[in-house]
Amino acid sequence: MTDPVQTVTNWARNITYTAAEFHRPDSPDALRSLVAGSARVRVLGSGHSFNRIADPGPRGVLVSIAGLPPETEVDTAARTVRVAGGVRYAELARAVHARGLALPNMASLPHISVAGSVATGTHGSGVTNGPLAAPVREVELVLADGSTETVARGDARFDGAVTSLGALGVVTALTLDLEPAYEVEQTVHVELPLEGLDFGAVAGAAYSVSLFTDWRDPGFRQAWVKRRTDQAPVEFGWGVPAKVAMHPVPGMPGGNCTEQFGVPGPWHERLPHFRAEFTPSSGDELQSECLLPRATAEAALHAVDGIRRTVSAVLQTCEVRTVAADPQWLSPAHGRDSVALHFTWIDDLAAVLPVVRRLEEALEPFDPRPHWGKVYAMSGEALRDRYPRLADFRALARQLDPEGKFTNPFVAEVLED
Ligand SMILES: Cc1cc2nc3c(=O)[nH]c(=O)nc-3n(C[C@H](O)[C@H](O)[C@H](O)COP(=O)(O)OP(=O)(O)OC[C@H]3O[C@@H](n4cnc5c(N)ncnc54)[C@H](O)[C@@H]3O)c2cc1C
Repeated sequence: MTDPVQTVTNWARNITYTAAEFHRPDSPDALRSLVAGSARVRVLGSGHSFNRIADPGPRGVLVSIAGLPPETEVDTAARTVRVAGGVRYAELARAVHARGLALPNMASLPHISVAGSVATGTHGSGVTNGPLAAPVREVELVLADGSTETVARGDARFDGAVTSLGALGVVTALTLDLEPAYEVEQTVHVELPLEGLDFGAVAGAAYSVSLFTDWRDPGFRQAWVKRRTDQAPVEFGWGVPAKVAMHPVPGMPGGNCTEQFGVPGPWHERLPHFRAEFTPSSGDELQSECLLPRATAEAALHAVDGIRRTVSAVLQTCEVRTVAADPQWLSPAHGRDSVALHFTWIDDLAAVLPVVRRLEEALEPFDPRPHWGKVYAMSGEALRDRYPRLADFRALARQLDPEGKFTNPFVAEVLED
């Protein structure tokens, strides 16, 4: 046992966990007996979620697996890596790159744990890139009785087992597919008008494209264009190339961000926007995000533009990305190529929540699915309607965790019958 639980918060410090106990076991055996001997358990990853998804509630035990051996076993012949669930992408990426291999994509920051990220459907950008769960081929779980179960691709349960909201067990390790290491060059373009925007052409112009705006004017302040040097050169014909290093949040230093100006470099030092050694984003913030069918992107952006004064009043920055359709049952990109509208808000929930609600209303005609790790206002009932395989996930959770040891109020609301 380590810190008193009252002092354990998430990264953004807007959540203090209400668990009865906080444990950081230092061996797999200690983890297994802790799980077997506890009535209710939730795992805390790197704590980068903005809501109570990880909170077990006052009668539960919060567990960090960051004290377990941080293994990353790369198999260069099979092009796979077996990584402990608590390892962060920064360490995973360095280990994989050192063996001449790569992941297909990364989120905006490398500070987040692998198990926590894939549990919530975390994603980067790119019209052909699925979320971070896409390369996962195997998940190893410690179940409620302390036993270990591995669910691999090909198993009928697999599409429920990766983006699982932490509701099936403790993910102690994952095996991921890799590809040969590649280089990426990143250029930031500024000032793209919304009027006449061909979203499909802009988003598909390079391996990964992100648009940013503060919605103070219609249009985008920045486009982050990430091109793989092993793919055809990009003629990005929108906006003009930035002359100084940019940061997505106005007023923050560009030096905290990954190298720009088209300088080629390793995939893991270009695909995230934020460098591993600096605080990502602004630090004082809340975030929300909705994923919608990609074909609705232009109409959805115009819907946000219609309420841009309301939005911009509490906004630091808005990022627009694409995510390829994902088979995971609870993935916000499940079954549909998606556009992801992300909002970095000011750090004031009372001011931000009504705006999140207003935004969800404006986006309602486009069937939005909120990011599981961010702030949202949508009811459990509305959420449940948006996931066609929810009943399959519910059955899987009952099979692997019949007593509901890994459930909490957040998950219970999602899974309610
Ligand atoms: C600055 C910032 C930038 C962000 N950028 C992006 C982005 O680019 N794209 C994006 O999609 N999201 C982004 N996010 C959101 C973030 O990726 C998600 O919240 C993600 O879940 C964080 O991983 P974590 O390890 O911190 O998870 P936590 O918040 O610690 O946990 C999330 C969930 O995973 C479960 N969990 C964690 N570890 C385990 C485990 N070992 N076994 C079982 N369950 C587990 C927890 O119980 C909880 O339910 C960002 C967040 C921040 C703060």
